[in-house]
Amino acid sequence: MKIVRQVKLVPDAVQALALQRTLPAVNEAANWVSSVGFEHFGLKASVRELRKLCYGKLKDLGFGAQAAQHIIKRVADAYTTLRANIRAGNLGPEGAKRRHRAESKPVAFRPHAAHTYDDRCLSWNYDAQTVSIWTLTGRIRNVRFACSPQALKALAACRRGESDLVCRDGKWFLIATIDIPEPEVFEPKDFIGVDRGIVNLATTSDGDNHQGRRLGRYRRWQARKRAEIQARKTRSSVQLLKKRARKEARHATHVNHKVAKVVVAVAQRTERGIALEELRGIRERVTVPRDQRARLSSWPFHQLGEFIAYKARQAGVPFIEVDPAYTSQRCPRCGHTARNNRPSRDCFSCRRCGLAGPADHVAGVNVRQRARSAWVFVNMPDPFPAWPEPVDVTRDRPVVEGSREHERSPDGTEPTSSVLQGRVVDRLI
Ligand SMILES: [Zn+2]
Repeated sequence: MKIVRQVKLVPDAVQALALQRTLPAVNEAANWVSSVGFEHFGLKASVRELRKLCYGKLKDLGFGAQAAQHIIKRVADAYTTLRANIRAGNLGPEGAKRRHRAESKPVAFRPHAAHTYDDRCLSWNYDAQTVSIWTLTGRIRNVRFACSPQALKALAACRRGESDLVCRDGKWFLIATIDIPEPEVFEPKDFIGVDRGIVNLATTSDGDNHQGRRLGRYRRWQARKRAEIQARKTRSSVQLLKKRARKEARHATHVNHKVAKVVVAVAQRTERGIALEELRGIRERVTVPRDQRARLSSWPFHQLGEFIAYKARQAGVPFIEVDPAYTSQRCPRCGHTARNNRPSRDCFSCRRCGLAGPADHVAGVNVRQRARSAWVFVNMPDPFPAWPEPVDVTRDRPVVEGSREHERSPDGTEPTSSVLQGRVVDRLI
C-alpha cells in the first residue's frame, strides 16, 4: 500500500535561498505553460502538445530537462483533474457560476504550490540524513532533513517514485511516497464496533472511550482565543488567525492519529476486526445544541476514519464500514428502535426491555453487530451457479439479523455467537 511520509528540510542559509528562488519560479513557469495550453486547447491540453509548445522556452528560462518535463506534466495533470471534476459535477451543472469561472480561465498555480521531483532531480542519502536536490541555481547537495527514526527506516526501505517539495510558513518539507508491503488480512474472531461522536471522539463496543475532557477544554479555549483575535480585525490578526488555525488542525490530526493507533493496536492484539459507521453527513444526522456547534463542525471525523482504515490495513486488521442508520437509537438486546430510547444525549435506555447504558457504548455495540453480519456477506463464496438469478445479499440482511435474535440467551447477555456460527446460520438461509 502507498502512504506518504513528510520530512522537514533543514537547509542552511545558502540552500534556503536557492529553494526560495526555485519554487516561485517553477510555479510562475507552470502558470505560463497553463496559459499557453489554455489559449491553444482550452481545457484539453495534453502533455505532448504542451511539450511541443513550451519545452524549448522552458529550457531557455534555465529549467533543466527534467524540471521542464515535470512542469509540463503538472499542468497537464491539473487540467485532467479539472476536467474530471467538471464531468463528475463537482463544480455544479452546466452554466453554474463556479463551473463557468473554472472553465473561463487557465488553471493557476500558487507561488508556493508543491512541485514534483523524481529520482533524477532528487536523491536521498538516508545514512547521512541528507538530500541532494535540483534548484534553479544548480543542484544543492547535503541538505539535511529531519524525521522520526521510524519514518527514516520506512523511507530507506520502501520509498518509491516521486516526492513533492512544499513550503509552508517559510518551512520546507518533502513529501515522499512510500510503498510498504501489505500484510495479509487475518480472519477476525469478532469485531470491535467504533462509534464516532462529539463528546467522545471514538467509543468502542468494549466500552473504551477516547477523548478526554482535556481536549474539550483545549478546543473551547482555542475558540475563545479565536473570537478575541477575530474581534481585532487588523491585518496582523488575520495572519495570526491563519497560523492558529493550522496549529489547531495539526493538533486534531495528532489526536486522531493517537486514537486510531490505540484502536488498531487493541484489535490486532485481540485478533478482531474493526467496524466503523459510514460517515455520510454526520452533520445532517446529529442535532447539536448551539454552544457545541463549533466543536462539531470543526472536528475532522472523516480523517479519524481514514487513519483507522489505513493503520488497520498496515497491520492486517480486517476493516469494514457499516450502515450508520439508527445505531444510536436501536437496542442491541431486543432490537427495539425508537427515538425515545435516548432520554438524553449521553444515556441509552431501552423502552421495551430496559437495557440501559452509555449511549456511545450502545452505538458501538450496534456497529459491531452490523459488522458481524456484514462480514459474512463480504466473505461469502459466490452464489451457486445453479441459482436462476444473482441474489441481492443486501435484501437478505434483516432476515439474518432476525435469525440472530433467537440465539440470544434469556438472561439478556450478549450472544457469544462468533462470526463462524453466524456464517453457518447464514448459509442455511
Ligand atoms: Zn431493548
